[in-house]
Amino acid sequence: MTGVEERAELSVTGWGQADQPPALPNSARKWLQRELGWTPRTTPAESLASITTAATRLPDASSAALIEIVGDEHVRTDGPSRLRRGSGRSYLDLIRRRSGDVSGLPDVVVLPGSHDEVLAVLARCAEHDLAVVPYGGGTSVVGGLAGGAGEHRAVVTVDVSRLNTIDSIDAKSLMVTAGPGLRAPEFEARMARYGLTLGHFPQSYEFATLGGYAATRSAGQASTGYGRFDELVAAARLATPVGQWRVGRPPASAAGPDLLGLVLGSEGVFGVITELTLRVRPAPETKHYEGWSFRSLPRAFEGLRQLSRAGLLPDIARLSDPDETRANLTLSGSSKAGALQALLRARGHGGGCLLILGWEGDNDSVGVRRRAATSMLRRSEGTRLGRSVGQSWLANRYSGPYVRDALLDVGLLVETLETAASWTDLMDVYDATRSALIDLLSTADKKPLVMCHLSHVYPTGASLYFTVVADRDDDRPLQQWLLAKRAATDSLLSKGGVLTHHHAVGIAHAPWLAQEIGNLGVAVLHAVKDRLDPTGICNPGVLFGSP
Ligand SMILES: Cc1cc2nc3c(=O)[nH]c(=O)nc-3n(C[C@H](O)[C@H](O)[C@H](O)COP(=O)(O)OP(=O)(O)OC[C@H]3O[C@@H](n4cnc5c(N)ncnc54)[C@H](O)[C@@H]3O)c2cc1C
Repeated sequence: MTGVEERAELSVTGWGQADQPPALPNSARKWLQRELGWTPRTTPAESLASITTAATRLPDASSAALIEIVGDEHVRTDGPSRLRRGSGRSYLDLIRRRSGDVSGLPDVVVLPGSHDEVLAVLARCAEHDLAVVPYGGGTSVVGGLAGGAGEHRAVVTVDVSRLNTIDSIDAKSLMVTAGPGLRAPEFEARMARYGLTLGHFPQSYEFATLGGYAATRSAGQASTGYGRFDELVAAARLATPVGQWRVGRPPASAAGPDLLGLVLGSEGVFGVITELTLRVRPAPETKHYEGWSFRSLPRAFEGLRQLSRAGLLPDIARLSDPDETRANLTLSGSSKAGALQALLRARGHGGGCLLILGWEGDNDSVGVRRRAATSMLRRSEGTRLGRSVGQSWLANRYSGPYVRDALLDVGLLVETLETAASWTDLMDVYDATRSALIDLLSTADKKPLVMCHLSHVYPTGASLYFTVVADRDDDRPLQQWLLAKRAATDSLLSKGGVLTHHHAVGIAHAPWLAQEIGNLGVAVLHAVKDRLDPTGICNPGVLFGSP
């Protein structure tokens, strides 16, 4: 078991560690100035060191009861411990913290060391009327950690980082049972020793945890090939206020509805996931990444749809729309990117779309799959750009959140939102979401940069992931984004998009949950919650919203 203090801590006001401040290159600054009509300014995050956090509301008797279960050193009411676990990492979270707003903190952070301790903590919290917020890596972007106390006396954050053991490796059956507190790099490093991989690589890979992935139904950059996280979970153990619940019977079972599906995506509202049995694979012998270009987005959508229909999808397929392609090539500032831009213009792909494809597996099958996909993409009028484009994407695959910090430091709004739609609706959902964001964030002399990529391809459709950069309204930054987000969500739903493809519901999407799953669907989830969490202490406000 790793000591939690040894891990790299995620900064409260940005990504990565506080001692790694990024800077925006001058060329990028000038380009953004022209694109957005933005006036560069310095808007650094306030230092939180001197800001006093609200006193804990945890009654002494409750504190003593929690200490009795997990020990004194694992019950923390000091300001820094509560601040560190007090929010996720959405734009709204970061803007609040960067302005020195330290409201909404849990009253206490508890770090249980076993499933039994989690069970005992939940039982005690129910007795003492304390809300419980499970905490994994703190990378939620939908307010999954920000539901608050609801009608309860105080908030107990249950940090699962000490539940970080690998309990069994069944290499024959390709199943590994592990604690929810493991971060993906720790898990992958252990798997590598056995020649195995999980294949889950979201952009939050460095800090998010296995439990968080399961609780939010995360999707990674290689999910087209390896599957979404919910497909990687074979079984789970949940600690609830009324006892433990084991769900999932690998390899497969037809004994009634799939109850594992109730735990995946439950965002802590039914209890705490304390153990996961994961489906792993042999680590790939070879990895081949390459770039492609298409003249237009509809042509590129069609190329991917054809691949999917023919069963020729690669493991990674990431298609940038024209604006994201242009921004990525320009902002990279490298001479290679400049040369690539010139090449694309020469081939009539100047306003086109860049596609990154990645194949992983054994040498023979990668070769066969790649050759077949290449022929098909050429028939769809794609142009192959070669391996260096793919390698460059691979080298920078986790850099986006660090760039976000640099943009926040100079007065910009930077946020993302995501959805998915059928092939039939995909273009309409793309157009409607983009228009809504541009309308809401434009003023007489300013316009936002709205970029999009498709990163998960299914036989029936694909995901869309929008990144928005705009001049921040310093007087009402939260309101500015909330209005844009609301308009975009209404628009994408009206055209057939899903409420969320992989970020989950949290508090941000809760107002639209009934629209997505129906009133009866919400009632069914409430009934499950009433059975598992009769006093409603588990993550109040999240998923269902506040009453
Ligand atoms: C920069 C950035 C990039 C991102 N990229 C991706 C991406 O590529 N793909 C993607 O899917 N998501 C992405 N996300 C979103 C986020 O990383 C995921 O939602 C991730 O699954 C959250 O994991 P976590 O361990 O950080 O969970 P947390 O943020 O700690 O918690 C998320 C939710 O799950 C609940 N929870 C956490 N652990 C447990 C548990 N053990 N039992 C029960 N409930 C629990 C929490 O209460 C909360 O509601 C990104 C976020 C950021 C900030």
